[in-house]
Amino acid sequence: MSAEAGADFIPLDGNAVAGDLSELFARDVTTATIRCGSCGSSAEIGAVRVYGGAMGSIFRCFTCDTAVIRMVRTPRGFAIDMRGAALLLVNT
Ligand SMILES: [Zn+2]
Repeated sequence: MSAEAGADFIPLDGNAVAGDLSELFARDVTTATIRCGSCGSSAEIGAVRVYGGAMGSIFRCFTCDTAVIRMVRTPRGFAIDMRGAALLLVNT
């Protein structure tokens, strides 16, 4: 058993941070900083190169060209794959 699963630690679910999530996603994310998971360089999302098309948008690291965000609009909303990013820093 891990320390996090100990008897003194009672996990919550995502609803417990609903207010924080609402605040996060209501912001202008183009000013957020994204760190590349491959080379470690950082840039504002608004400055990252984006290749778009019918299949969605791919945000590429300005330094090493790694795909840091893949985003597609679906019939229900958006699907976002950020496995190429190490960190997304959103200023409040
Ligand atoms: Zn990079």
